[in-house]
Amino acid sequence: MHFDYYMPTRILFGPGKLNQLAQAKLPGKKALIVISSGNSMRKFGYLSRLEEILTARGIAFAVFDKILPNPIKSHVMEGAELCREEGCDFVIGLGGGSSIDSAKSIAVMAGNPGDYWDYIGGGTGKGKPIPNPILPVVAITTTAGTGTEADPWTVITKEDTQEKIGFGNEHTFPTLSVVDPELMLSVPPKLTAFQGFDALFHSLEGYLAKIATPISDMYALRSIELIVQNLPACIASGSNLEARTNVALANTYAGFVQTESSCTSEHSMEHALSAFYPELPHGAGLILLSEAYFTFFSSKVPDRFVAMAKAMGADVDALPEEERHLAFVPALAAFKEKCGVADLKMSDWGIQAEDLPKMAVNARETMGGLFAMDRYPLSLRETLGIMEKAYR
Ligand SMILES: [Zn+2]
Repeated sequence: MHFDYYMPTRILFGPGKLNQLAQAKLPGKKALIVISSGNSMRKFGYLSRLEEILTARGIAFAVFDKILPNPIKSHVMEGAELCREEGCDFVIGLGGGSSIDSAKSIAVMAGNPGDYWDYIGGGTGKGKPIPNPILPVVAITTTAGTGTEADPWTVITKEDTQEKIGFGNEHTFPTLSVVDPELMLSVPPKLTAFQGFDALFHSLEGYLAKIATPISDMYALRSIELIVQNLPACIASGSNLEARTNVALANTYAGFVQTESSCTSEHSMEHALSAFYPELPHGAGLILLSEAYFTFFSSKVPDRFVAMAKAMGADVDALPEEERHLAFVPALAAFKEKCGVADLKMSDWGIQAEDLPKMAVNARETMGGLFAMDRYPLSLRETLGIMEKAYR
């Protein structure tokens, strides 16, 4: 047994924790606050609360408020330019995964030359080493989905080439993250479901990935249990703070899973879908692919599916040993039903069946690294086969 464990982020977790930012050690004197182009951070008062805390501490700030749900490279470059102009020495991502991921990527580009894609390893990225330091990042998450507050990863789309690629290194971990479930009470039911499923797939894929460790396995299985036990209550009643807190915890665990293990090729395939169809929420894209994806892998690596089925709540012990791995996919289907996301179709977002071959190629060319994490190496034909099976 061999593994490296490295998790350098200080995490303030729990209802009301945003207030603790008033005392927490912050990594600079002037912040670039990165938020989405929607108005929720202003409407719910989260931005003004943050601004008040910073002002009271004598920390200056500028606000960059253009981030899209599937964040794009041009906004990273624009945010980095603003960061330099304003003389900011750290970046705060406030909002969902898109804002926090953008904050990380802006922190990379604020002090570094050239184009963001110069440093990206997949697709048309040049994979150059980053010459200069990366600014420190503070993450304040208002959703439970990406786990980005507890991992080094950021996913950005290059719009003109339809490449949606993850990036991260030991310097893109947030130095400080606030996970305050009170900030999540305002997320509407459908987004709550999509984000919760994203966290679920981070844990499921992280458990399936061939670099999983005993530590990531522990977080993954507990995260799956917490989501299955609490996500339906969050969808039914957004103000259920106990259920929100449990899903937030599951999402933070899923971030640790992403740090210690990895996503697998399901995420590469989803990135292709939402790179071509940016209106498709990431979590919804994963839901669309999931049944075909996990059905395929359950026959290829059955041993890992027994514990996953158990964590999903399936009574695997009642089954003969050789059938236990088969309990996972029905448990996943039942959970989708319970969360009201069983009837989603790719065609709901305008995805055309004839696009699938080029999206299968895109998935492998841009995010090939995650295919390398699969315990069974998928061919292009098998990749396309899974996407075609998932198509409705
Ligand atoms: Zn994801």
